[in-house]
Formats: sequence, structure tokens, C-alpha cells
Amino acid sequence: MDISLIIQFVIDLLAVLLLALGIKGLSKVRSARTANRLAAFAMLLSVIGLFTFYLGSSGISIGAWFWIIIGTVLGSSLGAILARKVPMTSMPETVALFNGCGGMSSLLVALGVALFPTNTENFDFFQSLIEIISISVSIFVGAITFSGSIIAMAKLQGWLATPSWTQSKIRHIVNIVFAIISLIAFLDLIQYSSVSSIWLLVISSTFLGIGVTLPIGGADMPVVISLLNSYSGIAAASAGFVVGSQLLIVAGAMVGAAGLILTQVMCKGMNRSLISVLFGGTLSAQIKNSSSETEYTNITSCSVEECALTLEAANKVIIVPGYGLAVAQAQHTLREVTKILEQNNIEVNYAIHPVAGRMPGHMNVLLAEADVPYEQLKEMDTINPDFPATDVVLVLGANDVVNPQAKNDQNSPLYGMPVLDVQEARTVFVIKRGMSAGYSGIKNDLFDLPNTSMVFGDAKKVLSDLISELRDLGIGVK
Ligand code: NAP
Repeated sequence: MDISLIIQFVIDLLAVLLLALGIKGLSKVRSARTANRLAAFAMLLSVIGLFTFYLGSSGISIGAWFWIIIGTVLGSSLGAILARKVPMTSMPETVALFNGCGGMSSLLVALGVALFPTNTENFDFFQSLIEIISISVSIFVGAITFSGSIIAMAKLQGWLATPSWTQSKIRHIVNIVFAIISLIAFLDLIQYSSVSSIWLLVISSTFLGIGVTLPIGGADMPVVISLLNSYSGIAAASAGFVVGSQLLIVAGAMVGAAGLILTQVMCKGMNRSLISVLFGGTLSAQIKNSSSETEYTNITSCSVEECALTLEAANKVIIVPGYGLAVAQAQHTLREVTKILEQNNIEVNYAIHPVAGRMPGHMNVLLAEADVPYEQLKEMDTINPDFPATDVVLVLGANDVVNPQAKNDQNSPLYGMPVLDVQEARTVFVIKRGMSAGYSGIKNDLFDLPNTSMVFGDAKKVLSDLISELRDLGIGVK
């Protein structure tokens, strides 16, 4: 047996094991950083394994080596620069772009094999049937992932609005037409292996990706991105079948399964079914049809000084971080505040809602950045029973995840979404810049309650002022 094949097999096996360990480690905040490095190292190993194999085979020309090296250096540099530069709040767009690149790669690999076949002599019916099915799936899912992800990224960046016609039933007809054309192209490809059917499949699936993603918007967008992430895994796995790479099959299957699980977790956290996300149109269209009140009638606002005085007298405080905390980049200032409270023997915990922020785990990552002890981060189900025995809740740039409408108002688009029961606490301070709505675009009944006070301002500015006020009261270090 060829020695380069054996080396590649061993390296691939090691890479798969490390990748599986890395993915497992990502499930805990404490091990996430190391796990991420482990998974990245696994990917590096797989590239080295592939290079070893290519070095051992004589079929690679100098020209091909040139393009392989240029592609590897360019791709790695771009990835490293993006990972360093992109702010946490733009992570969904970045993930969408990466998914799109994954989909495009699988599409190009399948196209390359389909248009320039290498093994035309030894014809085996079943083998070529499997190959054609793998190529078709790669092209179909890869093209949908690519076009869908680019549309999703453009919408999240604000470059593309949702056209009004996509909110009507016409969109279903358009998408069904593209799906039928794709099916016809697929059947034609199996029967005649014609080049025209390959291109027909590429075009129809690209349009299907656009048609399926364009009508979706608002809070559903990250769910679609997670689903597209799963599609990119499926496309990669089928590309693995096309080129006979076990590593690509395993890694693609892992990404496909992980993306599906994440999609399900997000749907549950937002009380949305995948069907309503994919076929229900935008949430804003549903909000227009809801009959909930939109005006506030009983808003109480207070100064930072009043907030500091209430905190000074508290024994138990819960912090509820939300998207606004990430926008304000106030996590380090928040940590300063909580350190001061702890020095005054006040018990502090953080309530983490599963979909607070704009991506799963957003708040965990943000607070870990500020060295908040992991044991103080409490999941929603764990901390909800603690609110009635809590003196003060500080809601920092969170809105939808603390909206009691989700439990009390059957007409609300949020009805049924699990939320943090902050209104059960003695006093609630909501720190935000104004009365704007959260991601869902609806009124928050919490703001009207008698035990809620609004502290208006940018989260970072309010928290810095709070530090000064607490120190003026003689709490914490000078
Ligand atoms: P949210 O409902 O989007 O509300 C964020 C609030 O932050 C806004 O009301 C805004 O009010 C305030 N804000 C913005 N900038 C601020 C600043 N500099 N300082 C202080 N406040 C600021 O956030 P959330 O409660 O975290 O809820 C997340 C939402 O995203 C949910 O609807 C969820 O379903 C959705 N979502 C999340 C995920 C996920 O995976 N995490 C995925 C999909 C959808 P002002 O403008 O008045 O300041």
C-alpha cells in the first residue's frame, strides 16, 4: 500500500478525533477557548494530511500546486483577519458569509468533478449512480446555501430590504416552480448526464436559495443562518462522497447535525416552529396583525443616584444582560459595578436567557470577556424561581427576553416564548437609551409596571456614573 495513503489515513483519523473532542468542549464556557483551538488544530492537521497525500502522488502539476498554495494562504489570511476585526455584534453576518463560502466550495468541487471527469474508462453502473446522486446533492444544497447565505448576510447588513411581494402567497408558487425545475434537472442528470442539466440544476437551486431566504426577516434571521450552517455541512458531506474524502464526510455530517440542533434550540428559545420561520413571512408582518396595545401609560424614570441608593440597601441583586449591553460594550464597566457590590457583601448573579443578544451564547461570551465568574451565570430555568426573593434586578440593554407579554398576552407575537420573570423582584431598573422596542419590535409591558424604573442612557455611561455614585456612598474601593 502507498505510504502517503497510510500517513494521510492516520492524520485524518487523528483530525476527526480532535474535531469531535473540540466540538464536545465547545458546550462548556470554561473549556470553549481550548476546544476552539483544538478544532482549529484538527483542521490544520487535515490540510497537512491532504498535502502529504498530494506530495506522494505524481499527478499534481507545478501549476496546480501554485493554485493550491495561493488558495490556502489567501483563505487562511482572510479568515484570520476577519476573525480578529469583526465585532461580536456582527457575528451573525460573518457566520452567514462563512456558510456561503462553505456552500460555494461544495458546489465548485461537485461542478469540477461533473464537468471534468477523470475516470471515464471503468464504467460501473452503481458507482456512477452514487457519484451522480452525490454530485447533484452537492450542487443543489451547495447552491441553496451559497445564494441563501449571501441574501441573509445582505439583509443583516441592511443592504437589502424584504420586498413586499415576498410577504404574499406568490412566494410559495415561485419557490415551488424552482423546486420542480431542480427536480427535473436532477432526473435528467441521472438519465443523460448532460452538461445542460448540470447548469439548469445550478441556476434553479441558486434561485431557490434566494426565494426561500428573501421573505424571512427580523428575529428569524439568525435561525435561518443556523439552518444554512447545517446545509453547508450537508453540502460538504456530499462533496466528500464526490471526491472520496472520509474526513469531509465526517466533518460535514458533524456540522450538519450541530447546525440542526442549534436551529432547534433557537426555535425553542423564541417559541417559533421551524415551519413558521421558513414559510410564515417576517415577524413584523405578524406584529401588524396582532391586537396588543402599543402605547406606554405608566412610565417611571429615575436618576443614577436613586438607582445607587437602592442598590446600597440591597442584599440580593440579579443582572439581566441583553443585546444593548453588547452594543454599548459595557461588559467591563458592569464587572466593575458588580465587584463594588460584592465588596459590600451583596450577592450578585447574572440571568442568562438562551436567546439574549443576537446569537446563541452571546451573553456568555460577552461576560466571559469581562472575567465574570462562570458560577454566577445562571440559566433561565435555574434563576427564574429566585426573582421573588431578589431585591434589585438590573436589566441592561435587554428587552424582549424580559417582556411579560410572552406569558400574559395571548395576542402578542411573543406569546409562549419563555422569558425571565424579572417583574417578580422587589425593584427593577431598566437601563436603556430610550423607549425603542427590542428585536421583535413590540411594546414591553414590564416598563409600565409600578416596581419598574427606567434609567435612560447608554449602558456604559450609566454604569460608569453608577460606579461614581456607589463610591460617593462609600461602597467599594476608592
Ligand atoms: P432586544 O430585545 O433586541 O433589546 C435590546 C435593547 O437594547 C433595545 O430595546 C435597545 O433600546 C437597547 N439598547 C441598544 N443599544 C443600547 C445601548 N448602547 N445602551 C443601552 N441599551 C441599548 O434584546 P434582548 O432582550 O437581548 O433580546 C434578543 C432578541 O433577539 C430576542 O427577540 C431574540 O428572539 C432575538 N434573537 C436572538 C437570537 C440569539 O441567538 N441570541 C437569535 C435570533 C433572534 P434603546 O434603543 O431604547 O436603547
